[in-house]
Amino acid sequence: MTITPLMPVYPRCGFRPVKGEGCYLISEDGRRALDFASGIAVNLLGHGHPHLSKAIADQAATLMHVSNLYGSPQGEAFAQRLVDNCFADTVFFTNSGAEAVECAIKTARRYHHAKGNPHKNVLITFKNAFHGRTMATISATDQEKLRDGFAPLLEGFVVVPFDDLEAARAAVNEHTAGFLVEPIQGEGGIRPASQEFLQGLRDICDEQDLILVFDEVQCGVARTGYLYAYEHFGVIPDVVASAKGIGGGFPVGACLATEKAAAGMVAGTHGSTYGGNPLACAAGMAVLDVILEPDFMDNVKAKGERLRSSLEQMIPNHDSLFDSVRGVGLMLGLKLKVDSRAFVAHLRDHHGLLTVAAGDNVVRILPPLIIDDSHIAECVEKLSAGAASFTLPDAA
Ligand SMILES: *Cc1c(COP(=O)(O)O)cnc(C)c1O
Repeated sequence: MTITPLMPVYPRCGFRPVKGEGCYLISEDGRRALDFASGIAVNLLGHGHPHLSKAIADQAATLMHVSNLYGSPQGEAFAQRLVDNCFADTVFFTNSGAEAVECAIKTARRYHHAKGNPHKNVLITFKNAFHGRTMATISATDQEKLRDGFAPLLEGFVVVPFDDLEAARAAVNEHTAGFLVEPIQGEGGIRPASQEFLQGLRDICDEQDLILVFDEVQCGVARTGYLYAYEHFGVIPDVVASAKGIGGGFPVGACLATEKAAAGMVAGTHGSTYGGNPLACAAGMAVLDVILEPDFMDNVKAKGERLRSSLEQMIPNHDSLFDSVRGVGLMLGLKLKVDSRAFVAHLRDHHGLLTVAAGDNVVRILPPLIIDDSHIAECVEKLSAGAASFTLPDAA
């Protein structure tokens, strides 16, 4: 037998973390790396945060899981707190981002079904989007690398260019249920949509009674300096898919919706065995305890500005490699003039800095939101040293 016990769907690298300390990861062979990947925008309080770890340990010892057949004081409290702090009136808890997007897709279709328009079942989605790895979420993108070999895909998605309002408007017809869009594309390469584009989608939805779904799985939960990134753009969605940072490292996701948009999601229409169990809710509550502290969001914005300007200052010194910086808050992308994957590996293997490659030659910089100025300085030093010692793998 040559297959590995761990199904070989990831090309895993040689860095094998066994312990986390704040903004650092320590590997099996004792290497220590500055973690500006945060498990891909997940560990927003870093590793081993005392408040989050204690909340999880205490809840695990008290009550870990019960069925959603029972009343949920923990789920009600967590949902109430989210509702109190964002556009939504109601929340469905999931265990992952893809599941949150699935719930959002079902909510949008079911809205039109409930209004007697079951033919309105097509969501307009956008090029280079990433919504997850389930059948519906790979059907909602046009990325061949995600879809290859998995046909037949689900019907009900039309993909148009990102940030192109006219293309989006032209795709609307009597079958349209709404739009599914990342306000800031993550995997696609830290590409923020324009305010005009998102506002334009909002206007179309208002004119034609369509559902505007934001996939904030990566850009949500304080990453941009706002609880959700829609606040940065000043455009209110009908449904938001949330996950990644929301559990601070514990698997939690949420589909947030207005009362109107959730009109079809009545008893019996959706479910999850684990979703929103007491342990997940304790993790989510502990994350909210920290990020809803009065100065937290302003700090994320300020640290985002400082990191961004430090990165920008570094660019002219390495202008054969670095192109530009983009993103919002602490969701930043350093665009390279070459493919970013080899440079991300070089930073990891030779400079003890963890980042994540993304589309469009971008190095994603997604630090824990609790970084201080010393971590920013260390990141920039490592990037500079990494750029100086980097030689392009032979372009054959
Ligand atoms: C990561 C991600 C997902 C999928 O989340 P999973 O937890 O891996 O299922 C969906 N949408 C966006 C924008 C993401 O970044």
